[in-house]
Amino acid sequence: MAERIIRIKNYIGGQWLDSESKQTFKSMNPAVNTETVAVAPQSTQKDVDYAVKTARKAFDAWRLTPAPKRGEILYKASQLILERKKQLGELVTIEMGKVINEGLGDVQEAIDIGYYFAGEGRRSFGQTMPCELKEKSVRTIREPVGVFGLITPWNFPIAIPAWKIFPALIYGNTVVFKPSKYTPACAFKLVECFADAGLPKGVLNLVNGFGEEAGNHLVTHDGIDGISFTGSSIVGKRIGATCAKKLKKHSLEMGGKNCVIVMDDAKLDLAVEGALWGGFGTTGQRCTAVSRVIVHKKVFDNFKKKFVAAAKKLKLGNGLKPTTEVGPLVNLDAVQKTHEYVRIGRNEDKAKMLCGGDYYKNGECKKGHFYQPTIFTNVKPNMRIAQEEIFGPVVALLQAENLKDAIKIANSTKYGLSMSIYTENVRAAETAARDLQSGLIYINSPTIGAEIQTPFGGLKNTGNGHREAGGIGGAIETYTEMKVVYNDFSGKLQKAQID
Ligand code: NAD
Repeated sequence: MAERIIRIKNYIGGQWLDSESKQTFKSMNPAVNTETVAVAPQSTQKDVDYAVKTARKAFDAWRLTPAPKRGEILYKASQLILERKKQLGELVTIEMGKVINEGLGDVQEAIDIGYYFAGEGRRSFGQTMPCELKEKSVRTIREPVGVFGLITPWNFPIAIPAWKIFPALIYGNTVVFKPSKYTPACAFKLVECFADAGLPKGVLNLVNGFGEEAGNHLVTHDGIDGISFTGSSIVGKRIGATCAKKLKKHSLEMGGKNCVIVMDDAKLDLAVEGALWGGFGTTGQRCTAVSRVIVHKKVFDNFKKKFVAAAKKLKLGNGLKPTTEVGPLVNLDAVQKTHEYVRIGRNEDKAKMLCGGDYYKNGECKKGHFYQPTIFTNVKPNMRIAQEEIFGPVVALLQAENLKDAIKIANSTKYGLSMSIYTENVRAAETAARDLQSGLIYINSPTIGAEIQTPFGGLKNTGNGHREAGGIGGAIETYTEMKVVYNDFSGKLQKAQID
């Protein structure tokens, strides 16, 4: 598969199309940076206009299709993703770089969300409540928002689009989907599953291209009723401001600066294992990646020794090799950004580097965007490496006096996505769960590993109050409008608050 270049098309109105400009761009294999994975249409505003018009045209028929019927199609799409899991998982590894087990996990998350939201076709519950007047009833129902623009990053190139497409569609919205320019093949193969499942034409439309061009036009388009964005805080804030001006519903899932707290009573080996998986899994390129470990002073030296020893043993390489533990970064920009933060950590912050700190060029890795797992100690909470999202394999160790101090340090960044505590003390665990300013809290496991039946999202600069995925307060709030229906069957005028 790796040798064959995938020729990608846009998908609009049930047709596979080139961009009207005929311009294209390429995605490359991060592990072998001379290898082109796919050639995709570089969409213009005209392509976006056409996709939006098509989605709008399809909206009425789709919203009036009974939700259980919509669910049947989405169930079929989930089945197809499951049948194609191996090929899709490999494609994730080839196009984005994560190791194959994680590539397969990325696809599994899409399958899980697919089945969950297909089931929503027979739930999507509203409420009934008592009416204060006789012979009058009142209930709430969930209605689609309209045409949704979905804008996604590259780091979960199957899972994140699926997190958005399945809920958007089950609740009766139609969709224009703009994936990251780094992972168009994953998006294309995912959309193929929906097309092959028999989704009516125009309900899901794929427009490839660049953020500044296709993405920005989607956000500003008057034919779009809602935007669901996952990506960096800098882009998300801009999108939020644009949507706010147009009073357009928008959900923003953005960056993180997540941490693990290790208390003096923690099972230290478990904490080391968790911090290692959280910090260097997906080469640190998860929004929930562990980038700070805050360790109680009594166990700091011991934790540090074990953690550095374990990080030094990690095997870097092409993610397709089953023995590889850490794959490449997504592209050269990501490597340079990581290296720049290492420079900042050493020269400006004056933190002490314990391992890593350079490009990794051994053997086959010289062909790819590899960076050594890097750990800093003597890190103070206000340093840039403790404050800013690096999105690479760099972990900062910070020392805490006690639980209160650890929580204060944890909360000292502008982000609030995922935090964890390792402790055997139930009071410490509950205090942390209460006081950490974070959308996700883990006790005795790292900051990664969210399950799809729970709401997902963060506080502060990580999000704007919406949540993805399942559960009460999850994606249903983003992709539906609440309508209240009163029915007076008394045959006379009744006046609330007056009669
Ligand atoms: P990015 O912000 O650069 O791009 C995300 C998407 O936005 C891409 O599709 C891009 O083309 C598009 N885009 C860029 N500029 C745009 C514009 N002006 N108008 C409209 N669309 C535009 O982010 P990225 O590098 O792809 O992803 C990494 C970031 O995503 C990290 O900050 C990470 O923390 C975050 N992330 C967050 C979550 C979460 O759930 N909170 C999950 C995954 C990734």
